Amino acid sequence: MKEYVLDMLLGNPVSRYMLRSVRNIFLPKISDSNALAISIEVSSLCNAKCIFCNYRKNYRAKKLMSVQDFEIIARTCVGIGYENLNLTCLTGEFFTHPHATEIIRISKAVGFKHVGLFTNAIALSEHDLHSILGGDLDAMLISFPGFSKKAYEEVFGVRRYESFIASIKKLLKIHKETDSNTVIVFEPRTYLTSDEIEHSDFYLDFITGYLSDKVLVRKPIRVFDTWGGTITKDDLLPGMRLDRCSIKSIWPLKKTYLCEQILSYGILSNGDVRLCNCRCDDNVGTDKDSLLLGNLNDYTDFAEFIEKNQNKTNKIRSEFIMGKLPELCIKCPFYYPVKVLENQ
Ligand code: SF4
Ligand code: SF4
Repeated sequence: MKEYVLDMLLGNPVSRYMLRSVRNIFLPKISDSNALAISIEVSSLCNAKCIFCNYRKNYRAKKLMSVQDFEIIARTCVGIGYENLNLTCLTGEFFTHPHATEIIRISKAVGFKHVGLFTNAIALSEHDLHSILGGDLDAMLISFPGFSKKAYEEVFGVRRYESFIASIKKLLKIHKETDSNTVIVFEPRTYLTSDEIEHSDFYLDFITGYLSDKVLVRKPIRVFDTWGGTITKDDLLPGMRLDRCSIKSIWPLKKTYLCEQILSYGILSNGDVRLCNCRCDDNVGTDKDSLLLGNLNDYTDFAEFIEKNQNKTNKIRSEFIMGKLPELCIKCPFYYPVKVLENQ
C-alpha cells in the first residue's frame, strides 16, 4: 500500500516536484565515503538507440578502452583505496566490448571487492556467461522496456528483441544451474505499466520461474530526465514523461547538498576523467563539459591525476555546496542529495 501511494505521488508531476524538492533540501542520503565507487567505462559504443538517452545524438566519438589500459587503471584505483567498481558506461554498452568477460575477471583479480554494471543485455549471450556469473560480477542491472517486441523497437529503437530474449533465457538458465551469487535486477524503462509487464507472456511463462532474492524485477521507470536539456518531451512516447528540475537551492535554504554522482570520478574510454559518470550533455568530449577534469593520458597514472586535479575537484564540489552549480548540473533533474560522513 505504502509503495502504491508513493508510486502514485511520484507519477504525478505536481506532487513529484514538491516531494523531490523537500527531499533535495532536507533529506539527503547519508553516505560513507568508503562506499564510493570508481566508474571505468570501457566502451562508448552502444547497440541500442533508446529514445530517452542522448547516445543516438552522436555527441561522443566511439571508442573501446584496451584491456591493458583497463588493467593498469583498475590496479591503480585499487592501490589508492577503491573497493567498488562500476563498469557502467556513461553512454555506451559494456557488452559491446569484445573482451567484456576478461575485463570482469581482471576487475576481481586486481582486488575490487564489489563489481557491478548496467547493461541492455542485447549482446550478453555472445560472452562467457559461466565465467561472468561464476563469482567475478556481483551485480548486473538490466535496462529494458518490458517483454514486448513492439515496446522494444519503439523505446530501445533497434530490432534486437530476439537477441535480448535469447540472452535473458541463457543468462537466467546458467544463473540457476550454477547457483550463481550474482544479483540480477531488471529495471524497466518504458511506457508500459507494471501490470502490462507482469502480464506479458514472457514474464508469466519464463521470468516467474527464476524470480528469487537474487533475480528481481523493479517497478518501471516512466519519468525520464533531460540529460542536461538534450532530451525533450518530443523524444518520448505517450506514457513516458519528462522530469523537471526540482528546487535545489533557494534563499534562505542556500546550502545545497552535493549530488551523489559528483562525488564519484568517471574514467571514460578515451581517457577523459570527469565527475559524474551518469549524465552528460552535448558538451561531452569537449573542453566545455562542465564536469570534465582532464585526460588521463596527460598524467603518469590515475593516482597522479587525482593529486594534480585535487584543487579543481574541490572547487567544483565546494561551489556546488554554495549553490554555484556546474552548467550541466543546473539543467539536470537527476540530482540526488547526499551527505558524506567522512571526507575522501
Ligand atoms: S540508455 Fe544505454 S542502452 Fe540505451 S542507448 Fe543509451 S547507452 Fe545505449
Ligand atoms: S546533478 Fe546530474 S549531472 Fe550533476 S552530478 Fe548529479 S547526476 Fe551528474
